[in-house]
Amino acid sequence: MVYPIVRFGNPVLEREADNITEFDTPDLHKLVEDMFESMYAAKGVGLAAPQIGISKKIAVIDCSNGENPNDKLVLINPQILKSEGKQVGEEGCLSIPTFREQVRRGKRVTVRAQNALGEEFEITGEDLLARALVHETEHLLGRLYITHLSNLKREVMKRKIRKLQRDGEWG
Ligand SMILES: [Zn+2]
Repeated sequence: MVYPIVRFGNPVLEREADNITEFDTPDLHKLVEDMFESMYAAKGVGLAAPQIGISKKIAVIDCSNGENPNDKLVLINPQILKSEGKQVGEEGCLSIPTFREQVRRGKRVTVRAQNALGEEFEITGEDLLARALVHETEHLLGRLYITHLSNLKREVMKRKIRKLQRDGEWG
């Protein structure tokens, strides 16, 4: 099932999600499947549960856009363990469509998380994967990438979004 993507302005995006405590349940497996489906439908490389209105600590990532099944990644209750180096590049978010801004992130990032069976694992990613790991983990803490922009840039963006909302063009 494809969920509609929640857009900036909905408070679910800006509060910390709840930890997942029950693993290997039919509901959890279904949620993982639906999240991948929703992410591919929206043409994203990552999706966090709050973005479909579910305030739980689970995110999916696939930097291959569905090309390589080995790149499918499920992160439950993720924590950033390490961030090394830096990269500056354009970043966007499915919940803030049409906007993209330069954001500085670690070049190489290590995250510890659980899979849908509850097994703990660590993953280290570089470049786009490093960016996705941090972006999605931060979503689950209620933190959007725009919190990394200057106040001026963020205010300009919010003003444009408010106008789109007023014009009924913001979902
Ligand atoms: Zn996002």
